[in-house]
Parts: sequence; structure tokens; C-alpha cells
Amino acid sequence: MDKVDLRALIIATADTIVAHAEELTALDQAIGDGDHGLNMKRGFEAVRTEADAFAAKPLPEALKAIGTKLVMTVGGASGPLFGTLFMALGKEISAEPDRANLAAAFGKAIEAVAARGKSQAGQKTMLDVLQPVHEALFQGKTAAEITDVAGRAADATVPMKALRGRASFLGDRSIGHMDPGARSVALLMRAVAETIEGH
Ligand code: ADP
Ligand code: MG
Repeated sequence: MDKVDLRALIIATADTIVAHAEELTALDQAIGDGDHGLNMKRGFEAVRTEADAFAAKPLPEALKAIGTKLVMTVGGASGPLFGTLFMALGKEISAEPDRANLAAAFGKAIEAVAARGKSQAGQKTMLDVLQPVHEALFQGKTAAEITDVAGRAADATVPMKALRGRASFLGDRSIGHMDPGARSVALLMRAVAETIEGH
């Protein structure tokens, strides 16, 4: 994998979350409490503000610091989960990761999210995008293919019944709507893939 421009990745991910905040809010209004867009926007804006400081750190330290910042700023159920994702990724990744290290670290990070959320793929959460993305990474798929996998995985949460988080309170009425956290992960993955590809 090419050496990534961390600052560009931070800006791209934050920009996409901010640009889609209203859409994420609308998704959460359908099956949650309608705060997901604002939660994510607040967190990623906070990260973007300190992009230079994060980007000056070695990749593992940067990811851990970003995760800590997200835990402090996103809030809701998703804050600790997205925070855990980045912190665990930082703990497992090497300073200049090759594809194998990236895939392994991503797998560990997903395990940490699942442990934290007491959840697993198939329950209509962010894990339903994280899991297929991990498989695609592991299989050596290209950035464009991974973007595709992530988008389709978010779409695939529509017919699912939520078994975790606020959406689970709706039972069968959660069916027919995309999971907001899954959509956020797909947006983040697309921003990362496009930034890496355009490099
Ligand atoms: P809250 O549910 O507290 O209002 P958000 O609206 O910010 O928090 O985030 C909701 C998203 O968090 C869901 O769409 C789902 O993807 C994710 N989520 C919630 N609970 C869990 C869990 N236990 N495991 C994994 N993801 C979860
Ligand atoms: Mg919510």
C-alpha cells in the first residue's frame, strides 16, 4: 500500500461526514433519536480542527489520539464505538502498514468494537459494514472495490431487523430503513479509498 497522507485522510473523512450530516440525522430520525448526524459532525469537526497535530504523529499514535478525541466529542452509543475502532486500530497497526498488517489490525479493531457493543454482524449496526470491508481488505480488493463493498453493505442493512442500539426498541418497525452507523462507516470508507486512490 502507498504511504498515506494522514492529514488528507483526516480532512476527507471529516468533510464527508459534515457534508452528509443531515442525511445521517434523517436516517437516525427514522429508527433512532435523530442525533447521529450531529454526533458524528461534532466529533469529526473536532478531529479536523486538530488535523495538523494528529498528522504530525506516527500513524499508530495518531489513530489512538483520534479515537480518544472521538470518544470525547461524538457522544451517543456510537461515540465510544467509533472511538474504540480508531483506538484499537492504532494499537494494532504498524507505522508503515502493508496490506497484511492493515487487514489484521482492522480485524482486531472490529473485534474491539464488537466487544464494546456486545454486538456482531447481522444485527443492523456499523458492524454490518465493518465486517465485509475487513473481508475485502483481507482478500486484497482494490480501494474502488472496497468502496463498492461498503456501499452495498450499508444498503444491505435496510431489510435487517435491528437487534442492538436504540433501533432495536422498534423491533420489526426497524425493517426498511438503513442503519445510520452503517451509512457513516460506508461514507468514511469511501473517503479513505478515494483519498488513497487519488494519491
Ligand atoms: P444513539 O443510538 O445513542 O443515539 P447514535 O445515533 O450516534 O447513538 O448512533 C447510532 C448507531 O450506533 C447505530 O446506527 C448503530 O450503527 C450504532 N450502534 C448502536 N449500538 C450499537 C452496538 N451495540 N453495537 C454496534 N453498533 C451500535
Ligand atoms: Mg441516535
